Amino acid sequence: MAETFEFARALILGKITSLPAEQVPLLEAVGRVLAAEVKAPWDLPRWDNSAMDGFAVRAEDCQSSQPLLIDGCLPAGCSAVGISVSPGCAVRIMTGAPVPAGCDTIVPFEEAEEKDQHVLIKTHVRVGDHIRFRGEDVQQHQVVIAAGSVLRPAGINMLASFGMDNVTVFGRPKVAILSTGDELVELGEPVGPGQIINSNAYSLAAAVLEAGGEPVVLGIARDNRESLIEKLTEGLQADVLITSAGVSMGDLDLVRESMEAVGVERLFWKVDIKPGRPTAFGIKDGKPVFSLPGNPVSTMITFEEFVRPALLKMMGHSRVIRPFVKANLQESITKKAGRVQFLRVRVVNKDGHLIASSSGDQNTGILSTMLRANGIAVLPASRERIEAGEEVEIHMIDAVADLDPSL
Ligand code: AMP
Ligand code: MG
Repeated sequence: MAETFEFARALILGKITSLPAEQVPLLEAVGRVLAAEVKAPWDLPRWDNSAMDGFAVRAEDCQSSQPLLIDGCLPAGCSAVGISVSPGCAVRIMTGAPVPAGCDTIVPFEEAEEKDQHVLIKTHVRVGDHIRFRGEDVQQHQVVIAAGSVLRPAGINMLASFGMDNVTVFGRPKVAILSTGDELVELGEPVGPGQIINSNAYSLAAAVLEAGGEPVVLGIARDNRESLIEKLTEGLQADVLITSAGVSMGDLDLVRESMEAVGVERLFWKVDIKPGRPTAFGIKDGKPVFSLPGNPVSTMITFEEFVRPALLKMMGHSRVIRPFVKANLQESITKKAGRVQFLRVRVVNKDGHLIASSSGDQNTGILSTMLRANGIAVLPASRERIEAGEEVEIHMIDAVADLDPSL
């Protein structure tokens, strides 16, 4: 019996736990999930400093039209120790330089007129103008980045600002990718009659990389038990094992029984979805094992809907399923009731409305319509027909092409 889509995905996610945390150099943490909160070791800024190139002054000295004597200069990077602004004086100061003693206001060059070692302030000044105060951004001991946050450039900047060149993030799974089939040859080898190139290894490795995992490409297992058992055993060294093909009803579809032979506990086989019905999922020593169907489109869609969320969960992400975008269907679609259908669509923005149209032939064998799609519409199992103009929910797989009206 086939499982429902929702049950199958919930079952998978229920079996997945996050990988242990590890310390990595700062730049290796981009896009990864912080495993422990980060507290500020000091205030940010660390000291009062100038927000402008200009003059450090005493606000009270600027009330009269008396020019101030320019007495010293403070470039960025210098120390203000021993420098102070005396009454009736101003110190030249550059952006980022520490505010000297006696100064309570910075007047930008644009608002001052310089002449003969003196400066005339042309504007009304208020105490505190153009000073970045110590701790106004972050205070010492404050939590600046919470555990579970995904590190983006701003977070990386914050960590760097605090002198942190290492960061503790959740691990990346090593994902073994095993292609199966007697008809397969490796990319670069001559292709004989009846043979096809093992392209799934590449789309799967690409998808694993895109999700943040580390692909371990195992090559090809042939359609016999010995070859499958040998390669599956190798694949079980990784954190996750994905196989493609050999999981349907064909005479030589031996993946399921070979999985059993190497001790993988099967948790489901077949899901009420199209494409991707023969997908199987199991566990061996706590490691998730996905048997995906072999048609390249089915392989990619089942990866997207089942494997990617699992990998993200292992990497500590809390949002593991792509958010749905709602769009109106351009044309009516007839489908089989009782199955979720993943429709390859092209979503465009027409005058502020998102319109989704089929990217073409939806046969599982048609790769070009997968290539043209920028989204996967998830059509509910309960429906037999979706009318033109109805709203559908879509996982955007190409975030760039999605909402730009010119595309
Ligand atoms: P199967 O499930 O073994 O019957 O395979 C289904 C279809 O996917 C067949 O047309 C296979 O030739 C094709 N296929 C299987 N493995 C791969 C692969 N690694 N790369 C590209 N196509 C594949
Ligand atoms: Mg096969």
